Amino acid sequence: MEKKIEEKIFEKIKEEKEDMIKILESLVRIPTQNPPGENYEEFVMTAKEYLDEKGIKTKVVRIPESFAKNFIENPQEYPRFILLAELKKGELTMHFNGHYDVVPAGEGWDIDPFSGKIIDGKLYGRGASDMKGGIASIISTLRILSEFEDHLDVGVNASLVPDEETTSMGTKYLIQENLVNADYAIITEPTSLKSIDIGCKGGIWMQVCVKGKAAHASRPWLGENAFEKGVLLVHAILTELKPKVTARTSKYEFHDQNSKRATMELGGYVKGGSKTNVIPDEFCFSIDRRVLPDEDVQEAYNEIIEFIKSKSKELGASYEVIVEDIENSYVLKGDRSIISAISQITESITGVQPRVGVKTGFTEMALFGAKGIKALTFGPGDENLAHVANEYIEIQQLIDSVKIFSTLLLRI
Ligand SMILES: [Zn+2]
Repeated sequence: MEKKIEEKIFEKIKEEKEDMIKILESLVRIPTQNPPGENYEEFVMTAKEYLDEKGIKTKVVRIPESFAKNFIENPQEYPRFILLAELKKGELTMHFNGHYDVVPAGEGWDIDPFSGKIIDGKLYGRGASDMKGGIASIISTLRILSEFEDHLDVGVNASLVPDEETTSMGTKYLIQENLVNADYAIITEPTSLKSIDIGCKGGIWMQVCVKGKAAHASRPWLGENAFEKGVLLVHAILTELKPKVTARTSKYEFHDQNSKRATMELGGYVKGGSKTNVIPDEFCFSIDRRVLPDEDVQEAYNEIIEFIKSKSKELGASYEVIVEDIENSYVLKGDRSIISAISQITESITGVQPRVGVKTGFTEMALFGAKGIKALTFGPGDENLAHVANEYIEIQQLIDSVKIFSTLLLRI
């Protein structure tokens, strides 16, 4: 009697364990530090080769300089690439996404941060957890399933992107150019396979600059004090607008209960006058507004702009607003069967049922969400080890994640 297909896949994963480790090791050894964004082409070509080897369709997309220069100064010197892969087409399609840039290694390492050295079942290196482990998991899952394609009822494709750590240029280009065709996206950022992120807050980052007129402080009637007007504006925001904003809470589950509230923080950046005896002609302060998945980011933006407009009029202050960035919030809504499937499969493999919740900080899930793709974040590696010295990943988590993703795709 033919063995159940899942058992066969697990046997295959066992057989290919050493290959999976080698793939991860070789990826960690390519120092794709960002900034500046180096060795990207080598990385993408290496990953491509692992997929080509198994007959998986791949495509390398170079991000045009005209797009890249909105994000970085020197795209000619440091070109950006996206690797696309497609295992199978299908009516319902699952996409896997991972970023291959890593933050600079930094100080304090006991071993070479780009060695991929293995000690006690842990593979060390910058990016081992964040997130070349997740990328190795995507590559290995596709490689394994390439031999079981006929048993899949689902379309499967993937993208490996640059610059998540800085500007999200890679995924922004991917989404803008419609390079992803999928119903679901799993971003395999490290969650230790113990939590599933199903959303994130959005954000509005802006500077408000109140304008005045410089004069000698001994003759203030000749000037206009931007600082004094600006402080009154700040006071009005803090006492009238901020309490209204921060009273709003989300109906969704968050990993961190403190995060269920909308927030608004002022003064992360402040710039003012220059000298004690000079009337300041400008006073600038920043606003960091975090938007709940329950809120509309455009409405949240308009609310701030309208408030500043009417208060400035009252105060007789002129001003300028500089918008640094606006990002949507996101939450996976509607049918949640994918989440229960991942939870159940994970528990059967690792013994731990993952916690489901919304994340506090902005993540690229929102970029997929804006295109109507149901995105979630779930992957091997420990988020707490990201960006620190002696970063590592437990090899068992890599293997488990390949088991989880393969089973999931087989059961969809
Ligand atoms: Zn990451």
